[in-house]
Amino acid sequence: MSDSIMFTVGLTGGIGSGKSAVAQLFREHGITVVDADQAAREAVLPGSPALAEIRTHFGGPVLKENGSLNRAWLRGAVFADPKQRQWLEALLHPAIAVLIDEALANAASPYAILESPLLLETSQHTLVNRILVVDVSEATQVARAIQRDGGDEAQIRAIMDAQISRYGRLGRADDIIDNDGPLAALEPAVAALHQRYLALAAQHTGQ
Ligand code: ADP
Repeated sequence: MSDSIMFTVGLTGGIGSGKSAVAQLFREHGITVVDADQAAREAVLPGSPALAEIRTHFGGPVLKENGSLNRAWLRGAVFADPKQRQWLEALLHPAIAVLIDEALANAASPYAILESPLLLETSQHTLVNRILVVDVSEATQVARAIQRDGGDEAQIRAIMDAQISRYGRLGRADDIIDNDGPLAALEPAVAALHQRYLALAAQHTGQ
């Protein structure tokens, strides 16, 4: 559980569930949304301590000529090697958490949202006070992810298999948005949660 003053809601869901759509609606209520994917990219920018350690560990080929991370090379290096993957995750997860914490601490809204596809798969859930899950049926998830990203069902299913299961995720939720309906249904669902979170945030800071 987060010990920061800011009341923070973790927003998660599987690929294509509608996290970005929900996050955008919270932004329209003036709420700061911290994007864990963005923190993950920042953690390995040229000049970062994490990128220097990766360079020392894997050697020159892990960098492109311009000094940025060669993600395709790194993916290949850890793909079939759980030890290397573990090493990388032990380095990156804390570095990403530090950046997320900083961004949350700078949030200037009554509460903040951490949007993360890996909230429950990493220690990121320890940074939040409450968990909001965007839920859709697997059929909807596959159809929307293919429509957005292209690719085929097997590729989307492979990504889904690497994430926590739908029911595992729902079991961890404090709040759930059912996003199997039309986009227009998200707006009132987010408006209602926004009111709930404002009340919870007021209690939280009043403690
Ligand atoms: P995530 O961020 O969880 O991967 P997105 O918010 O990008 O998911 O949603 C996946 C795709 O489905 C996007 O193209 C989005 O516009 C679309 N989408 C989201 N919610 C709905 C909905 N209720 N009805 C129809 N399309 C939706």
